[in-house]
Amino acid sequence: MTDEARGLPLAISRAEQTFPRLTPAQIRRIAAHGHSRRVQSGEVLLEPRGSGASFFVVVSGELEVIRPSRAEETVVAVFGPGQFTGEVNTLSGRPMFFKLRATKPGELIELDREHVLALVQTDAELGEILMRAFILRRVELVAAGVGNVVLVGSSNSASTLRIKEFLMRNSQPYSYIDVERDPAVQNLLDSFHIAASEIPVVICRGELVLRNPTNQQLADCLGFNETVDASQIRDLVVVGAGPSGLAAAVYGASEGLGVLVLETNAPGGQAGSSSSIENYLGFPTGISGQELAGRAYTQAQKFGAQMLIASGARLACDRKPYVVEVDNGAKIPARTVVIATGAQYRKLPLENLSRFEGAGVYYGATYVEAQLCSGEEVIVVGGGNSAGQAAVFLAKTTERVHLLVRSAGLAETMSRYLIRRIEATPTIVLWPYTEIVALEGDDHLESVQWRNSRTGQVEKRKIRHLFLMTGAVPNTHWLNDCVALDAKGFVKTGPDLSPEDLTAAHWPLARPPYLLETSVPGVFAVGDVRRGSVKRVAAAVGDGSIAISFVHEVLQE
Ligand SMILES: Cc1cc2nc3c(=O)[nH]c(=O)nc-3n(C[C@H](O)[C@H](O)[C@H](O)COP(=O)(O)OP(=O)(O)OC[C@H]3O[C@@H](n4cnc5c(N)ncnc54)[C@H](O)[C@@H]3O)c2cc1C
Repeated sequence: MTDEARGLPLAISRAEQTFPRLTPAQIRRIAAHGHSRRVQSGEVLLEPRGSGASFFVVVSGELEVIRPSRAEETVVAVFGPGQFTGEVNTLSGRPMFFKLRATKPGELIELDREHVLALVQTDAELGEILMRAFILRRVELVAAGVGNVVLVGSSNSASTLRIKEFLMRNSQPYSYIDVERDPAVQNLLDSFHIAASEIPVVICRGELVLRNPTNQQLADCLGFNETVDASQIRDLVVVGAGPSGLAAAVYGASEGLGVLVLETNAPGGQAGSSSSIENYLGFPTGISGQELAGRAYTQAQKFGAQMLIASGARLACDRKPYVVEVDNGAKIPARTVVIATGAQYRKLPLENLSRFEGAGVYYGATYVEAQLCSGEEVIVVGGGNSAGQAAVFLAKTTERVHLLVRSAGLAETMSRYLIRRIEATPTIVLWPYTEIVALEGDDHLESVQWRNSRTGQVEKRKIRHLFLMTGAVPNTHWLNDCVALDAKGFVKTGPDLSPEDLTAAHWPLARPPYLLETSVPGVFAVGDVRRGSVKRVAAAVGDGSIAISFVHEVLQE
């Protein structure tokens, strides 16, 4: 039987998916999770800074979603009978961007966050409709830059790039004003008494002005961490929200564990900086790391996992429950811990490198960086897959990509499909036996010198954009010597732990460590941070999911 014969539409339009109208039967199923509420015209149901918990279905009447600003109110959506409110903050409980007001008297069904979560977890059909609408609404807000954040920055500033990436990778819609390009910006700065020297500036929720804020300050201002009770003992604390940590969160939460994820920056980890992952199972046309991470994060939230934007600063493993101390001083108790802190980019040994980070030197090639160097020449350093992907991606929008490798070529380090694509792209030029020896410029990188290690010849090129994709070192400095590491700092687990390692760690149990378990019982390591791991998204996701089966075993011991 065809879809048409069953009465199903062949294709639902994007607008219908974003603002669907529920059937009476679907509304009755939602009503079983909530309560009925009558509203009067003009009644305000949600304020912009209030928690995003409440969710409404319109039975009769009409609701409007308003974007408040200093000058005026703008209506961004109207919901009639059969339609429902909400977007991804409804699941996370983070504060709403908008005001919600009734424009006609009517009847609503109201659900709090817990009941919305119960609904999406238990009713597959409604779960799909709600999740899809929430995600599409957020995608539209991000694309339109409609949110409660205005970033006033400069395209020459590393902090501006950092803040843009933090907002983008947390799917936080924002408007951007570039002081270099927009002459009207002075009025805005004057209205908030900001000197030009204080940029980048973030105007948060239309009122709070943050001058060059840290990621933590931004997260606090946007209420990212507001709904998380850090003092509660969790079955599982996952440190790091790259692919491995997100997988542990999805599997853990979906199997009934109380899960808290700590993340320094934003969901996605290294994969989040990939413009297109083409070898992850099930995505034949590729998926950007940002999109994969966004979906995984929403999936983890759907099952009830929570996330705290904060850095794990110290692991206290000499007591039970274990305690993960975070950089803002909070101490989070955990029955089990999954270390999923991955790795960070290796840097070049150049004295003035940090001066140009974000101002010509980049460690990821996403749409943000691609916009900065559109139409110009760029350099990509590295012979691995991440360098290959960056080169192919940047070749689409730049004049020329110079791919620098220290070795003779790419064959030993890069996947064959990428090598073929590079060979087929005439604007990518491969420079073997070549390394960067100097960077020059004032506020922004202006030129680069590279040397051929065979001939010793040094060349100077006026190139303003340098992408360093030269591999990574493990993020294990925060582990406080709790768990056994190998000589390079990767965490040893399961069969990698020798009898000597276990004796030195005072392993207290009769059983040996489980697969992925460290030298401390109930503390696991997954993904790139683990010794011997395969540095791939699928491997990281596999590790995260496997660890959960052993977390259950430990919780029952
Ligand atoms: C540009 C690029 C492209 C890639 N493309 C592909 C590809 O196409 N296919 C493929 O299979 N693989 C690809 N990879 C490799 C893949 O991304 C990694 O193997 C994978 O991301 C590892 O996942 P992970 O969760 O173990 O660690 P990571 O992705 O490194 O994530 C670790 C997370 O932990 C956080 N963190 C670190 N320290 C702390 C702390 N103390 N407290 C709290 N949080 C912390 C970090 O901010 C980060 O978000 C690519 C990598 C890069 C860099």
